[in-house]
Amino acid sequence: MGFLHRSKNQCKLCHERFDKNQELIEHARKVHHQSILRCRSCGMEFLHEEDRLHHVQEEKEKKLDRRRHR
Ligand SMILES: [Zn+2]
Ligand SMILES: [Zn+2]
Repeated sequence: MGFLHRSKNQCKLCHERFDKNQELIEHARKVHHQSILRCRSCGMEFLHEEDRLHHVQEEKEKKLDRRRHR
């Protein structure tokens, strides 16, 4: 953790920084009219396809975990 957070919520187009990823997404949508990607199962929003895929992968693993412990 730690250093990974440094530029995580920074806008790549105007380099403005945000505390929360959700704020960055709102900014990108309103200011840059960027298209927002959405997780089909929980509705969480992402700016980049690779972020969405990473999240979907994590959700899949969590589901498998749950099944294993039942
Ligand atoms: Zn921006
Ligand atoms: Zn999700």
